[in-house]
Amino acid sequence: MSTVAALQENISADGVFDRSTVKALFDLPREALFARADAVRKDNMGDEVFLRGIVEFSNVCANDCLYCGIRKSNHDVRRYRIDEEEILEVARRMEGWQQTTIVLQSGEVAAEKEDERIERIIRRIKTETRLAVTMSAGNRPRDTYARWRAAGMDRYLLRFETSNPELFAFLHPDCDLHERIRCLKDLRSLGVQVGSGFMIGVPGETLDILADNILLCRDLDLDMIGIGPFIAHPDTPLAGQSNAYADDHDMFFAAVSALRIVNPKAHIPATTAFDAIFPHAGRDLVLQRGANVFMPNATPGRFRKNYMLYPDKPCVDEDDHQCSGCAAARVWSIGRVIGQGPGHSIKAR
Ligand code: SAM
Repeated sequence: MSTVAALQENISADGVFDRSTVKALFDLPREALFARADAVRKDNMGDEVFLRGIVEFSNVCANDCLYCGIRKSNHDVRRYRIDEEEILEVARRMEGWQQTTIVLQSGEVAAEKEDERIERIIRRIKTETRLAVTMSAGNRPRDTYARWRAAGMDRYLLRFETSNPELFAFLHPDCDLHERIRCLKDLRSLGVQVGSGFMIGVPGETLDILADNILLCRDLDLDMIGIGPFIAHPDTPLAGQSNAYADDHDMFFAAVSALRIVNPKAHIPATTAFDAIFPHAGRDLVLQRGANVFMPNATPGRFRKNYMLYPDKPCVDEDDHQCSGCAAARVWSIGRVIGQGPGHSIKAR
């Protein structure tokens, strides 16, 4: 039995991973760790890769998260909102491209009119297409989540970003970790499939914090977990700051592999930021090291340069049709198949 398998079985026999056993995963030979994560993915999620097009439908944001390129204080960003009809057109196109979920992501605004507009968009997508709807629009009151749920929202993505409360407070002048977790719990109580996750290597992150991040995903019993490398944006207060794993980029992949081993039944996307660090190959490698979802960019091309969360974000000069074809080709090129059906959570609730 390989070292990783032995470690995992010992841990499972005792019931659970803890901080020290998660940290021990990072000491294992990397190729063995990657191979074990890939086997856990195959056993639990199969060979299907679900394509979930992401539409960055608004970059208007009231928050000032220290790391984020579309933070409110970045006045170099041209703000936009994509109108309802155009979002519906994108959704209809997606259906022809084997995409079974639309992910609608935006900055964070607490405005009744925008909440109503989103409610209308969700309802129309659910009645005019067969797509599942995932929202990702930040912290909102429970009532807003409830209205979106009633309109047909299936899932919600809201990363906790870091499990360390002090680091969270430093990075987010507008909210605290407790409030973020409250949102995730509200969503769960409404019957929404819940996704969260974190950035890998934010300045100040230690290996203890990384292990705790992975364990918090497990403790929240998440349906979906998205993680990706932190990349310093030049127009933010973290400009020029190094990633905590700047000297060992394999740690980004090791984090995904450890995440998969500790969370065998979660949907895990190969996130876009991996392609920013490893152009054209990052997401393929993540799919081979634990992930089972790919989120092609489905934002209409002319908006993309105004949704630069971090530098070198890929696909800025492309459109939804090109990104969809490229995603499918990447899945096939690594010998996997495109997921059929909505790709809902496989966890029993
Ligand atoms: N406003 C929503 C929220 O905060 O959940 C959704 C949009 S937010 C821009 C989407 C994600 O982008 C965040 O969860 C964060 O992890 C990621 N992100 C933002 N800036 C980043 C950076 N500099 N490097 C890596 N990821 C970043």
